[in-house]
Amino acid sequence: MKPLEGRTAVVTGASRGIGAAIALELARRGAAVAVNYAGSADAAAGVVASIEALGSRAVAVQADVCEADSCAALVDTAVAEFGSLDILVNNAGITRDGLLVRMSDEDWDAVIRTNLTGAFTMTRAAAKLMMKARSGSIINISSVIGLVGNAGQANYAAAKAGLIGLTKSVARELAPRSVRVNAVAPGFIETDMTAALPEAVRETALGQIALRSFGEPGDVAMAVAFLASDDAKYITGQVLAVDGGMTFV
Ligand code: NAP
Repeated sequence: MKPLEGRTAVVTGASRGIGAAIALELARRGAAVAVNYAGSADAAAGVVASIEALGSRAVAVQADVCEADSCAALVDTAVAEFGSLDILVNNAGITRDGLLVRMSDEDWDAVIRTNLTGAFTMTRAAAKLMMKARSGSIINISSVIGLVGNAGQANYAAAKAGLIGLTKSVARELAPRSVRVNAVAPGFIETDMTAALPEAVRETALGQIALRSFGEPGDVAMAVAFLASDDAKYITGQVLAVDGGMTFV
C-alpha cells in the first residue's frame, strides 16, 4: 500500500512550480489532491491530468487564498469530492520586491495577504476538520529568506518569518488533537518565481549554496511528502530547510 493511500490533500498554488511538484508527489504516494490555483486554469488542469495518469484522484479548484470565502469553499470542495481533509500544504505565494524606502503599501499588503494571511485563513478552515478527526498534517512553505532576511524583500521576509511563527504556535495548539504542523524553508529553487532574476543575482546566490547548485521543485516536494506522511508522526513545530546548505550554522 502506498504511504498516503486513502488520504486527501489540499495544495494551494499548485498550478505551477513547487506547488505543482508537491501535488504530483503526494499523488504519487497515493493521496487524492485538490489542486488550487488563482488564475492559471489550464496549468492546473494539466496537473490534474498528470495526477490522474498516475492513477490518483484530483480536482482543480480556483480560489484566491486572500479571500476567506474562497478558502472555505476550497476546503469544502476537497471534502465534498474526497470525503476528508488530511493534509494541507500552504504553498501559494508571490513576490513584490523593492527596497524598503521605495516599497508601496500595496506591495507590502499584497505579499503579506497572499503569503501569510492566506496560510492563516486556510489553516483555520482546515484545522476545524482536522481537530475533529484528531489527525492531520499541515505544511507551510516558508523560505530561507524568512530565516536570514534579504535586501529588497522586506515584505516577503516578514511574511515568511511570520509563517514560521504561525507554524510553531499552531503546532502547539493542535498537538493535543494529534494534528502536526511543520514548515519547509526552500532556498533557491528553479521556478517562474526565480526565472526572472538577473544573472548577477543568480551568480551571487549560487556562491552561497554549499552544494553549488540550485534546487528543483521536486526537492521541496520530497520533504513535504515526508512531513505529510506517518513517517513524520513524531515531528511537529519544525522548520526543515531545503536549500542545498545555504543557511545552516
Ligand atoms: P510560482 O512558480 O510563482 O507559483 C506560484 C503559485 O502560487 C501559482 O500556482 C499561483 O497560481 C499561486 N498563487 C499566487 N497567488 C495566489 C493566490 N492569491 N491564491 C491562490 N494561489 C495563488 O512560485 P514557486 O516558486 O513555485 O513558489 C511556491 C512557494 O514556494 C511560494 O510560497 C514561494 O514563496 C515559496 N518559495 C519559493 C522559492 C523559489 O526559489 N522558487 C524559494 C523559497 C520559497 P496561478 O498559477 O494561478 O497564478
